[in-house]
Amino acid sequence: MQVASVVILSKYADIEQSLDYRIPAGMQAPPGSIVQVPLGNRVVEGVVFRHPETPEVPEIKDIISVNERALPAEFTALAAWMAVRAGCSIGTALSAMLPPAGTGLPQVRWQLNQQAAAGTLTKKQQLVVDFLRQQSPMQKTEIAQALGISLAPINNLIAKGVLSPVKSKAPGQAWNLPLVAELTRDQAKAIARIKEALDTKAETFVLHGVTGSGKTEVYIRIAKEVLAAGRQVLVLVPEIALTAQLLARFRSAFAGVSVFHSGLTPSRRASEWDRIAQGEASIVIGTRSAVFAPLTDIGLIVIDEEHELAYKQEETPRYHARDVAEYRAREHGALLVMGSATPSLETYTLARSGQYTLLEMPSRVYQRHPVDTEIVDMRRELQQGNRGMLSRALTQALTDTLARKEQALLFLNRRGVAPTVLCRNCGFRYTCPNCSTSLTLHGHGLLRCHHCGAASRIASLCPNCGSKYLRELGVGTQKLESLLAARFPGAHLCRVDRDTAGTAADKEEHLFNFFQQESGILLGTQMIAKGLDFPKVTLVGIVLADLSLAMSDFRAAERTFQLVTQAAGRTVRGQLPGRVIIQTYQPDHYSLRYALAGDYSGFYRHEMEVRGKAGLPPFTHLTRILVSARDKVRLMKQVDDISALLRQGSFDLLFSGPPPLERISGRWRWHILLRHKAGPWGKKVDTLRMQIKADKYTRVIIDNDPYNFM
Ligand code: ADP
Ligand code: ZN
Ligand code: ZN
Repeated sequence: MQVASVVILSKYADIEQSLDYRIPAGMQAPPGSIVQVPLGNRVVEGVVFRHPETPEVPEIKDIISVNERALPAEFTALAAWMAVRAGCSIGTALSAMLPPAGTGLPQVRWQLNQQAAAGTLTKKQQLVVDFLRQQSPMQKTEIAQALGISLAPINNLIAKGVLSPVKSKAPGQAWNLPLVAELTRDQAKAIARIKEALDTKAETFVLHGVTGSGKTEVYIRIAKEVLAAGRQVLVLVPEIALTAQLLARFRSAFAGVSVFHSGLTPSRRASEWDRIAQGEASIVIGTRSAVFAPLTDIGLIVIDEEHELAYKQEETPRYHARDVAEYRAREHGALLVMGSATPSLETYTLARSGQYTLLEMPSRVYQRHPVDTEIVDMRRELQQGNRGMLSRALTQALTDTLARKEQALLFLNRRGVAPTVLCRNCGFRYTCPNCSTSLTLHGHGLLRCHHCGAASRIASLCPNCGSKYLRELGVGTQKLESLLAARFPGAHLCRVDRDTAGTAADKEEHLFNFFQQESGILLGTQMIAKGLDFPKVTLVGIVLADLSLAMSDFRAAERTFQLVTQAAGRTVRGQLPGRVIIQTYQPDHYSLRYALAGDYSGFYRHEMEVRGKAGLPPFTHLTRILVSARDKVRLMKQVDDISALLRQGSFDLLFSGPPPLERISGRWRWHILLRHKAGPWGKKVDTLRMQIKADKYTRVIIDNDPYNFM
């Protein structure tokens, strides 16, 4: 009798243990298979984990059926690892990896590539070529069947570039990107160093290259080597629409790039998944979820803009694509290249310690003009009677830019911002005496630190200068857009942020239109700060840098530094001189100073000292436990139970209290922050997770290495 241990997917039941089922005679259900099995009096879905010799219980039931699509067998081990890392059950981890539920077998059809010089062909290859000359494009299996041959000659023709896939979607926009004729010294050095690792061992590189240093070209050159060696390449990007140019570059360098992200239609997603699973795509570019692309022989994983928060999934399972990529790279013996102008403190620390290899690209490809940067002190603006969102300097600069028929980018960092209070006269903020973070406004004038719980009340006059200009901080891109429309009638305005309606393709279209415009203003959240290369942009304005400083989050300074650095990088790409204007109420904040000076290592040193003193990451790891319930009594009962477990497990409790968003859609919330100094803390948290008693009134979420504290 053949037995399968099956992990039930968590949407049916959060069962920790796998359950044994019999594989009926004639059924194929290797590990990774997705199967329907009886559970109680229901039929549920699960994943075959392994084939034990004998079942755990004598009486077992039969697997009912097996899905057409299966996970690669290696994903069982990946899921077990990820469950501990992300603080969830294996069934939950698996649910993030599942193939898209779409119908139909792969529909990729192949045609003769007119441009390809075929060279010498084998008899069977010639047969295929002659056949396709007279036929419309066909699927591989159809060709093989019609000619009575195996798939091998067809696959060889594809590898040679003689056959190319019929694209079911219009190709990407023609961004007209300049070709790279000669590598810069920095690029050549970085590439040479990564190449050394190609046939030796898996190695992780941190490519720290300033904006415009040409990191994409490095990825492409290494990808070429890896593909030539017959292996596969996975490229992760934070957001597809905003990495349109990277995509266009890869597409012009390689045929058959598979693009995989959650914005695809279900059927499109399914067919891409099938293409990848069947080895028909050797380069996959995608967002966070693409880290689970079913590639079988990965030689290179690239994580572009490594520091981006988009790589952390903010719903269960709360995994970080960087961690999963690292795991997969290790399993596949692949190179991992993480690129950024502003690496996260976590990653850079590992690079400095020698665990990763650090590659620096300190100079830009085009360094034609120095950039003129300027900080505008918004406190002075107010004192001089300007209460608007735009300073006089920025307004004048926008006017000039439009008059010269050039383009401007305006950034507004509104996302992930907790409401806080700021004195518009002197820049005073309520900060926590223990944590160097801003206090968060909780309504009714109550302010709290949600790292340590310190509380305070808003005074009617500013405690620092005595003015009556204590205001809640928060502005929107929409408001800014209408303000600009009134101020600059007739100017071409383009707003792009996570909230603007439409698909990734719509957003790309939007940006592409702007790219082609003669002049205008592009405004949005920090999402537009990265990856885009607009040669006509000569002015970058950051409307309010404080919004990221004021986040009640210990990474606020880091995020501000990243935003300002990335934003300033947008002007130095073209042939025209550039100007950067940063509006702020805290002109002396170190993150702004270092960003303007382009001094990453200065910022790193400073911020590491702050983190070290507070015992925060990357010196430690945090776990956030978020409990919610409709009923406050039930909530507190669960919180008390968990607190008792924490005491037993002698955890380092950093904070326990309501988060900034204390109630969401009728549910009261409570969060607990744990700190781990070293050791196998993931296992410890996993044990705790299993000890927490589930009840149907409360929801408990565990978030290891949290980025969101709201
Ligand atoms: P990064 O990702 O480091 O910010 P990009 O890869 O977007 O930079 O490159 C910036 C610009 O420089 C792009 O327009 C790119 O085509 C161009 N570029 C890159 N490498 C070279 C090179 N060696 N010679 C000429 N242009 C280059
Ligand atoms: Zn505090
Ligand atoms: Zn004040």
